[in-house]
Amino acid sequence: MTITNERILKSLNQLNQTQSLQLAPDLNVGGEQVIMMAGPCSVESYEQTHAVGAAIYQMGGRVLRGGAFKPRTSPHAFQGLGTKGLEILRSVADEFGLLVITEALGVEHLPEVMEYADIIQIGSRNMQHFPLLWAVGETDKPVLLKRGFMSTIDEWLLAAEHISTRGNHNIMLCERGIRGFDDTTRNVFDTTAIALVKQRSPFPVIADPSHATGQTDLVLPAARAAVAAGADGLLVEFHPNPIEALSDAEQAVPLSEMQDFYSEVDRIAAAMGRSLT
Ligand code: PEP
Ligand code: MN
Repeated sequence: MTITNERILKSLNQLNQTQSLQLAPDLNVGGEQVIMMAGPCSVESYEQTHAVGAAIYQMGGRVLRGGAFKPRTSPHAFQGLGTKGLEILRSVADEFGLLVITEALGVEHLPEVMEYADIIQIGSRNMQHFPLLWAVGETDKPVLLKRGFMSTIDEWLLAAEHISTRGNHNIMLCERGIRGFDDTTRNVFDTTAIALVKQRSPFPVIADPSHATGQTDLVLPAARAAVAAGADGLLVEFHPNPIEALSDAEQAVPLSEMQDFYSEVDRIAAAMGRSLT
């Protein structure tokens, strides 16, 4: 494990220090601010995405998340709006001055996703999709690399190296829970991993308490724990009307709770000498 991490550190000429990554001229991740990336699991309509974008804007948030190409376990489940979803994300984000993060599901989607998104998400199921890692490694776009739900920390860091060795060092690592023996929760949230990868890699670390827990009422407690463990940002699923969500309805936080959610997380951020953006 150490060899992997030392190599990353060496290649970036950094030691035991998170490299701050610039997402916009006035927005860095890995510094004092804890960055909130909020939005629906899937982009379902303009109205739905617009409602979320407006709420983020009101909170002073900067990043809108939403899936257009969805990696669904079942081929019978909603697969996302595809290109239409990207268009909706971009137009809502532009209206409110937000950045877009969305998943590139395959190499073939990358040019299109690059055109519409500011941050490329590599999903948990794709953490070791090497051609996709190489392809994003050839770009200079910020990449959020989710931990595979059955991957070790070392495999995760090596996957990040598949990107960085191609030249793209604009990487954020995202802990989103791993599969354990107990299925009471959707996944097991590995808060230790957050603290550990912050020690052992120079990349900012984001936590996804939504997929980690799979349950709306556990998302906030997990988000607080993540920030207390040193996470540089959060990726959280919100929906204007969770019961109607076309994917991950059980873990969506209603928009009506966004303000409380932000202020609760901000309290923890403040205790850590940081602030929530
Ligand atoms: C998502 O963030 O929408 C998603 C599909 O997450 P994961 O890849 O972690 O399952
Ligand atoms: Mn989801």
